[in-house]
Amino acid sequence: MVILSISVVEKSEASVHYAKVEKIITIKSKIFTDLRHFNRSFMNIEPIPAFDDNYFWLLSNDHKAIVVDPGDAQVVLDRLSQNGLTLDAVLVTHKHYDHIGGVGKLKAKTGCRVVAPVIDGVAVDMTVNDGDEVSLLGNKFAVLGVPGHTIEHVAYYSEGLKCCFVGDTLFSSGCGRMFEGTPKQFLASLKRLAELPDDTEIYCAHEYTLANLAFAQVVEPNSSEILAKLARMKKTRAENKPTLPTTIGDEKQTNPFLRTDKTQVIEAILAREGKKLLDEPAVFHALRSWKDSF
Ligand code: ZN
Ligand code: FE
Repeated sequence: MVILSISVVEKSEASVHYAKVEKIITIKSKIFTDLRHFNRSFMNIEPIPAFDDNYFWLLSNDHKAIVVDPGDAQVVLDRLSQNGLTLDAVLVTHKHYDHIGGVGKLKAKTGCRVVAPVIDGVAVDMTVNDGDEVSLLGNKFAVLGVPGHTIEHVAYYSEGLKCCFVGDTLFSSGCGRMFEGTPKQFLASLKRLAELPDDTEIYCAHEYTLANLAFAQVVEPNSSEILAKLARMKKTRAENKPTLPTTIGDEKQTNPFLRTDKTQVIEAILAREGKKLLDEPAVFHALRSWKDSF
């Protein structure tokens, strides 16, 4: 009886001790999760729709904001005043008017800094090139040179925020038109983006997803991933919501321009061209030309 009693006490002490340890582990992991959540959600990222299908991406904390590719100033000024925000900086990916049209007025009205590659006619406070790093509102952005759509095109990648602003280089299930670069350059730029972690959120400058998926489906008619994404995105658009951001992981499955080394895409190009193409840039070029006339 006595022995049994001791045994019960020991067991109960052990379980109290275990419960304490478990509680500490739970608290520690909760703090860790909260911190991660805090870091991840420190910047709010929202689209400002403009023109027919552009998105100017607005990043903000409680008081300050950054806007990417503001092609028009007024919609940005309106959103800033609605949300009680001060504009800290403008980030520009490339020289097309739908991405820079509002930069001068925003600078004049708010005194914000302008971060951009070299662009004629744009007063830039910080000129960026591939390999540079920009610190804004406590976040670091790596500048990635991604020529192809235009020569000076850059993307802004934040490892901490797990996001990348890609302008008109990469779209959800598509890519930009090749105005200035070579197929080899554009393909290398897309491959560079594809090397980012799969969960990186990709913020593109246009809402082209449904049209891109219609093309992707013709290139890869047997892809269940493309079919499923098309159904999801149709629903999203029917609710008048943006289909962005996408992720690198999703794009690797559903974007033919990131799949120019895959048998399905190579065979689709072979069937269309009637001959085997020499290398991957040639497959990319044929695919891009096909989409231009789709
Ligand atoms: Zn463009
Ligand atoms: Fe554009």
